[in-house]
Amino acid sequence: MSLDIQKIRNDFPILKQEIYGKPLVYFDNGATTQKPQVVIDEELKIYSHENSNIHRGVHYLSEQLTQRFEDARKVVQKFINAKHDHEIIFTSGTTQSINTVAYSFGDRYVSDEDEVIISTLEHHSNIVPWQLLCERKKANLKVIPINDNGELLLDEFEKLITSKTKIVAVNQVSNALGTVNDIKRIIEISHKHNIPVLIDGAQSIQHGKIDVQELDCDFFVFSGHKLYGPTGIGILYGKEKWLNKMPPFMAGGEMIKKVSFEKTSFNELPFKFEAGTPNYTGAIAMAKAIEYIQSIGLDEIATYEKELLNYATEKLQTIKGLKIIGTAKEKVSLISFILENIHHYDAGMVIDKMGIAVRTGHHCAEPVMNRFNIEGTLRASFSFYNTKEEIDKLYNALLIVKQMFG
Ligand code: PMP
Repeated sequence: MSLDIQKIRNDFPILKQEIYGKPLVYFDNGATTQKPQVVIDEELKIYSHENSNIHRGVHYLSEQLTQRFEDARKVVQKFINAKHDHEIIFTSGTTQSINTVAYSFGDRYVSDEDEVIISTLEHHSNIVPWQLLCERKKANLKVIPINDNGELLLDEFEKLITSKTKIVAVNQVSNALGTVNDIKRIIEISHKHNIPVLIDGAQSIQHGKIDVQELDCDFFVFSGHKLYGPTGIGILYGKEKWLNKMPPFMAGGEMIKKVSFEKTSFNELPFKFEAGTPNYTGAIAMAKAIEYIQSIGLDEIATYEKELLNYATEKLQTIKGLKIIGTAKEKVSLISFILENIHHYDAGMVIDKMGIAVRTGHHCAEPVMNRFNIEGTLRASFSFYNTKEEIDKLYNALLIVKQMFG
C-alpha cells in the first residue's frame, strides 16, 4: 500500500510554515524529526488536565498518570519486541542510555587491560563514554575500521576480539553516512566469544522494524526525538540478566527500596535505573509517536524512504563536482556529500535562504570525517513526510550554490 504523503504532511503543523518566504523543506531529520499533532496534543493534554508526579501518590491524578507511564513502557516493549516490560528503562535519550551502560556495566565488568570495541562510524555519544570508561579502568579502546564506501570491515572486527574484550558497542545506522551495519552478524560473532553487544539505534529505530529478541542484542538504545516524539526522553533496553547484575548509575528517589544512613537497598527493575522524577510527559507522548508511526506502517515507511533515497542519489549524482560520502550498499534515507571545494557552511547558508534545512559539519562523528580526510559534509536526511518535489528543490538550490561559489 502506498502512503498518502499529503495527508501525512497535514499531520505535522511545522511543515506548513514558510522560511524566508519559501515553503519549509525540512531535510534535517537525522538531527531531529518533526512532531505530528497527536504528539503535541498529548503533551498539552497531560499538562492541561492530567499532570501529577507519578509513582508517589495515592490520589487520583497520580494514580492515573502512573498507569499511563507504565502503559507507555509496554508500548515501547511491544514496539521493539522486548521479552519483559522491566527491560525498558526510560532515560533522557541515546546519550544517557549509552552513558548508563558505560558506567554501570563498565563498573562491574571492565578492569585493567580489558578491551572495549566500537567502530569508526560511531557518533561521539558512542565514543566518549567508552573512552572515559577506558581511562577510569585503564582499559583499551579498539576500533573496527571501514572501507571507502563507509562499510564496516567485519573480518577485521573478528580479529580485534580477544579474551580481554568485555563489550562491543556499535550503531545500527551511521548518522554521518547513512550506512546500515550488519548488526546481526556483529552480534553473532560477539556472542560466539561470549561478549555482550550494545546497539546504538538512534538512526535506525525510525526507519524500520526492530526486534531485539530476534537480533539477540544485549542492549539497544534510542531517542524519542528522532522518532517523531518529544525531546528529553529515550530508551535503554537491556536484557534482564545484565540489568539485574549491573549497579545503579544515578542515585536518588525511586531507584531505592529502603534508605537509612547506614545502608540503602535498591529497587527492582526498571526503577533501579530511573532515579528521580522521570520525564513521564515525554514517555507518554513518545508512546503516542510510536503508535502514530505504527498506524502508518514501518514497512511502508521503509519502502517509501528507500524510494526517496534512490531518487535523491540519482539526481544529486548528476551535479558535476558533487561527491557523495558514504556509498554503502545498505543505506537509510540519508545522503552526505561535498560540493567541489565549496565550504559546507557556505553552501548550507545559501540553501537555508531558500527555505531548505540541511545539516552541515562533522555531524558529531569526527573520526568518520578524518577517515575521508574532510572537515565536514552537507547532509540531507529524509523522512516519510518528504517528497520528490522537495528533493528537486534541493537539486536546484545546489546548482545555484555552484554558480555562486564555483
Ligand atoms: N548516536 C547516533 C547514531 C546519533 O545519530 C545521535 C544523535 N545525532 C546520538 C547517538 C545521540 O543522540 P541524542 O543526542 O538524542 O542523545
